[in-house]
Amino acid sequence: MAITKTKFINYIRCPRYAALDNIKKDKLDSIVTFEEYKKEEEETKLLELLDKMYDETGEDIIDITSSHMETMMPYYNEVEILAGHLAPKYFNGKFRFARDTQNQESFDALIGNIRYICYADIYNEDNNEFRIIECKATTTKKYLKLGFKDNSIFQKDKDGIYKLLEELDVKIEDYMPIEKYKEAKSKLIDKYSGPGHYVYDLAVQRFMIENDLKQNNDKRTGKYYLAVLNSKYVFDGKYENGKPKYDEINGEDIISFIDLTSITESMMDNIQKESKLVEGYINDLHAEKYPLGTYCEKKKTVKCKYCDICWSIIPEKHSIFTYLFNHKGFKKDGINYSVFDLVNSGKVNMLDIDESYLTRDINIIQRRALENNDPYVDKKKIIDGLKQIKYPIYHLDFETFNCPLPRFKGEVPYSQSVFQFSLHIEKEPGKCDNEKDHYGFLAKDHEDHREELIKYMCDLIGEGTVLVYNESFEKTRIKELAEIFPEYRERLLKINSQIFDLMNIVKNKTSLYKELGYNKEEAKKINYYNPDMDGSYSIKKVLPIFSNITYQGMEVANGVEAMVTYAKFPKLNKKDFEHKYQKLVEYCQQDTYAMFKVLEGLKKEVDYKV
Ligand code: SF4
Repeated sequence: MAITKTKFINYIRCPRYAALDNIKKDKLDSIVTFEEYKKEEEETKLLELLDKMYDETGEDIIDITSSHMETMMPYYNEVEILAGHLAPKYFNGKFRFARDTQNQESFDALIGNIRYICYADIYNEDNNEFRIIECKATTTKKYLKLGFKDNSIFQKDKDGIYKLLEELDVKIEDYMPIEKYKEAKSKLIDKYSGPGHYVYDLAVQRFMIENDLKQNNDKRTGKYYLAVLNSKYVFDGKYENGKPKYDEINGEDIISFIDLTSITESMMDNIQKESKLVEGYINDLHAEKYPLGTYCEKKKTVKCKYCDICWSIIPEKHSIFTYLFNHKGFKKDGINYSVFDLVNSGKVNMLDIDESYLTRDINIIQRRALENNDPYVDKKKIIDGLKQIKYPIYHLDFETFNCPLPRFKGEVPYSQSVFQFSLHIEKEPGKCDNEKDHYGFLAKDHEDHREELIKYMCDLIGEGTVLVYNESFEKTRIKELAEIFPEYRERLLKINSQIFDLMNIVKNKTSLYKELGYNKEEAKKINYYNPDMDGSYSIKKVLPIFSNITYQGMEVANGVEAMVTYAKFPKLNKKDFEHKYQKLVEYCQQDTYAMFKVLEGLKKEVDYKV
């Protein structure tokens, strides 16, 4: 079985992977079928797509099921089809693009005793050169935000293709200082960074293609591109046969092409060396323990499939990863230690290191709370925060679908399209019934129900505080809706001005507490920490501390599950639809009732009476 791009990227993670994969060494020079190849690549692409969705929801990672993958597959397919249709607008010559057939251009090379194989999503050639275009369901945002201030290291050339500034007829200094340019560009070659992940994937593909050409004495030269969703594309709401029609709008197409020829060229020597390493790993097949590292990608959907085995040494609770900001490392006697330095030297529990390793106040608070089994409570700050809340309280939460392709007018790729809200109204302090005081809206299908949702929400919310958990999410959604629906703008912006973030009291918000008269140091400090939160301020972790309600056992138990459930709506039969609809209502209802319970719990904790 030949090594595919996905396999290569996995085998190079660490020497243990290949051994755990139980490779049949004698089969490594045989060809892989297109179906096998496609299945493997598509799984990876879907995991990447779901990773993008996690990015946006900011949720803790959950295990991806095949049902998640199946549900999201059509969205991914559509991105590829759009890229295939748009490519001839940007490139001349002949194309080979085929989604489901073996007509994709394939390359294979025998390097050492291992055969490598890859297919190009879009292959294009003219008399001068060939071009490889890989489709990814990510957006230009990842690349355009690399730079300094508002200027990206990528700008469009005269043909509308994004290129690095150094490849355009411009002076880099007119956009940003050279050091800033170099710093931003270096992220492209970090394969474990957001933008670098896709660049590395393309570079591995290039390595295989160039070896194939070399072995066939083919002297042609190629260029290498990514085709990604254009984050500047704002859908105008035009449909054809009931489907969105993604015409060019204000000079922007739904797909953008990014030229990564020079950056992938610079990575070839390194990938050559990596191919030698992979060969060595396969020849040796050592399954012994290997140090854990960023290459495990534990927190991503594309995490190593052997995390369950290798990471079993990390305790489920109070591990060293519980220390907030652990990715910034630790320090002792002037020596810096990364969290992996400590883990790999056997320090896997929070208490395996002594306090002298901790340089951040919050980490010292976490540690002492655990050691003394006693929550940290800054009573005065919590009370001052609670005083900011005015009654009645509208506990509000949205559920959104960040669809790769915009579905409704005013949306961009991966817009957080609001399909549900839940509202609990606490008219008087401490009085809120989970059923009687609950209101909500949930779209029944994939039609545009945003206006109904806005209208109902605006009618329900009057004077008082709109309480949310993690305000930037709700505030941004309301601002977006106010732009798209100008007739509700005033009412929506009024709601935004009433928003108060409960997390600002549980955790902290420096600017709020400065306004309340605290000095910088006091304002920065955390307000509350309970060891049972295990390093997370998510409502799911905070709720069980203040109530006996839990998300465990719920059929829909997190935002990603909610999104996937909604995505499935059109495919469900009546009975299943009604069941899932109810489960979604229950989930979102729990989110807002949770806020009421947390607020009550906090008041009790600090003995606060309104
Ligand atoms: S989990 Fe990490 S250490 Fe284990 S095989 Fe995967 S990459 Fe290697």
